[in-house]
This record gives sequence, structure tokens and C-alpha cells, in this order.
Amino acid sequence: MVLEPKEEVRLRLVLLGDTVVGKSSLALRFVQNTFVDSLKNIPGAAFLTKDICVGRTLIRFEIWDTVGQERFNSLTPMYYRNAQAAIIVYDISNKETFDRAKRWLHELWQQKQPDIVIALVGNKTDLCNTRAVSNEEAGEYVREQNILFMEVSAKTGTNVREIFTELGKKTNVTI
Ligand code: GDP
Repeated sequence: MVLEPKEEVRLRLVLLGDTVVGKSSLALRFVQNTFVDSLKNIPGAAFLTKDICVGRTLIRFEIWDTVGQERFNSLTPMYYRNAQAAIIVYDISNKETFDRAKRWLHELWQQKQPDIVIALVGNKTDLCNTRAVSNEEAGEYVREQNILFMEVSAKTGTNVREIFTELGKKTNVTI
């Protein structure tokens, strides 16, 4: 017997974080399961969709990427206003990007979007030999906040699908 999906939901997700932490790479890894060393010239990376099943719910992720606008501090609250989920990315080999991620989180809280589900994601775990932010430090930080946390690598694919799935579960309480 073939079971139909119980329901379909759309999940608008925004990627936030410093430039070159790997936001586009994460999106591409999740959506196409690929990794490209220099992404910035790929047109159309600004908006990607991906369907995954979590339990019997079909979740359509609508992923919005900043495609470099964060460089100019020109991200307006419009960018994340209607988002149900946000992934704030930092690079585990670059401490400044972790500090910047905390500021993004602060900004999101200030926008007073009570229902937005947030994940802090430390990318580039394959660069563990130049790690600048420990798992413990980041884990301790998120314990004070009600958010998800995972370390991933867009390059190797480690934990990428997992963090999107966790977000999907937490966003859709009916699953
Ligand atoms: P964005 O500006 O935050 O969207 O970052 P990009 O996705 O364009 O990635 C910036 C650079 O980091 C590129 O050279 C990527 O190849 C590289 N990069 C992204 N993810 C990883 C990763 O998991 N590991 C490593 N070693 N490099 C990565």
C-alpha cells in the first residue's frame, strides 16, 4: 500500500552570516548535493527550493540566499521578515564570523518574530586543523538561547541534510 504524504508545507528559510562563511555552499549542498569551490558566478543561487519528506509531511524549503549583499551591510529586515526559519552561519576557522553570527541573532530577536525557528551553524568542520571556535564554546552560547545548533561541512556534506531536517521538524509542529 502506498501512503500519500499527510500534508505539504512550505518553509521559507533565510541564510544569514558573514560573507564567505559558506552560505551559498550550504544551500547548494542541501539542494543539489554538490560542492563548487567558487560559487559567486553561478546565477540563480539567490533562491533555491528543495522538497524533503519528514515523517509523512512533505516540506518544500524555499531557501533565500543573500548572494553577497551582506558585504555591503545592505540587508534590510525585508529579507527575513516573512521567514519561518533562519540559518545563521559562521566559519569554525574564523572567530570573527562567530561574533558576527551572534550579532545576527541579536538582530533577529529584535525584529520580534516570535515564531521564527533559528539554527546556528558552524560550517567548514573539514578545516578542523585551523579551528578557531570550539564546539563547546558555541554549544554553551546556544544553551542560553532557544535555538538549534550544529557543526557542518558544506564541502564534505557532513550534517547538512540533518540540520535542515531538524529545522523542518521544529518549524512544523504537526509532524
Ligand atoms: P557565502 O559568501 O557565505 O555564500 O560563502 P560561499 O558559499 O560562497 O563560500 C565561500 C568560500 O568558502 C568558497 O571558496 C567555498 O568553496 C568555501 N567553503 C564553503 N563551505 C566550505 C566548507 O564546508 N569547507 C571548506 N573548506 N570550504 C568551504
